[in-house]
Amino acid sequence: MTPTNKKTDLDAQGIVESRVSLEIREINPYSVPHFDCRVKLDGNESPFSLPDVIQDKVDKALKEVEVNRYPDPEAENLINIISRVSQFPKAGILLGNGSDELIGMLVTTLTSGSRKVICPTPSFSMYKLIALAMGAEVIEIPLDENYDLDLDATIKAIEDEDPDLIFLATPNNPTGNMYSASKIAEILSVAGGVVVVDEAYSDFSGYTFLPLVKECENLVILRTLSKVGFAGLRVGMLFARENLVSEINKVRYPYNINSLSQAVSEVILENNEFVSESIQLIVRERDRVYKALSAFDTIIAYPSDANFIFFKAEDADSLFNKLVEKDILIRNFNRPGRLENSMRVTIGTPEENDAFLNALGDILAS
Ligand code: PMP
Repeated sequence: MTPTNKKTDLDAQGIVESRVSLEIREINPYSVPHFDCRVKLDGNESPFSLPDVIQDKVDKALKEVEVNRYPDPEAENLINIISRVSQFPKAGILLGNGSDELIGMLVTTLTSGSRKVICPTPSFSMYKLIALAMGAEVIEIPLDENYDLDLDATIKAIEDEDPDLIFLATPNNPTGNMYSASKIAEILSVAGGVVVVDEAYSDFSGYTFLPLVKECENLVILRTLSKVGFAGLRVGMLFARENLVSEINKVRYPYNINSLSQAVSEVILENNEFVSESIQLIVRERDRVYKALSAFDTIIAYPSDANFIFFKAEDADSLFNKLVEKDILIRNFNRPGRLENSMRVTIGTPEENDAFLNALGDILAS
């Protein structure tokens, strides 16, 4: 069939205005400013590359990957390994292209009740961005003065609005603290929808809600390989009750975990002792950096359970630029409100942390 009244003056802006939802048009895209600095402490990544013995195993595994073939759509081998390592039944595990993708799959699948999503704030911005893009209503509840959950306000919002989803990142990004476990337990017991406990940083806190999935049918746990050394692989993990997982799995794109990532993740998880060692080193360094930061008169540093430290400076924009001049990149969150003059520094190698602390000392002294 040939199109009859074919338009020749197709106006892209007209298409945007008539066919893209207002919610998407109004979104500020997730963007991280890019600077080429020698010391990169902005992305909550691990500073460590693979030990040589593991790199050899990875190289061998990669050689066997047939890139002309589609990956295993179910990533069965990888799921089996994750199930063994986490002691969680494999029917309750779902993988995503980073936990970002799993957040998207959760919002797509689980916003057909009230179409409302609760996000404590400040927290990881993708919850709100994805929920808005999917047309859900976002209810933001400010964290209390200690950046813990405001339990009364959250319970009230649950009772009044009956949200389909509640996103709780613990430890939270960017504030670095864990929420009170008792508050999360209370929220789980009151919520009629799903409570997502995002444990992206739980390897650094040593605390997990995973065993609670047995008792709480509405609990979904998110984890990721990104923070413990493998951000480039883009492997996120979701743990939940089997009947929830089978529904969420329906909106998963086939082959969402590519064959290279599957092969490398399998090797890493089969040989994960070096990962635990690097986590221990990061935790020790985190405590050292926290003490050093707290010693500066003009810095307020917040205790952290994650692989980064949240702090406030007198003039975050100026400090950020001066650190960049000294080849050090951290994250500047400065904006009016709760995040005014707020910054976040990822824990790097001892040398990188020293470079950051020395540069900071020089800048603050000048
Ligand atoms: N959750 C939290 C709390 C995060 O901070 C991040 C990354 N910044 C993610 C999820 C996304 O992680 P991934 O790399 O697995 O997509």
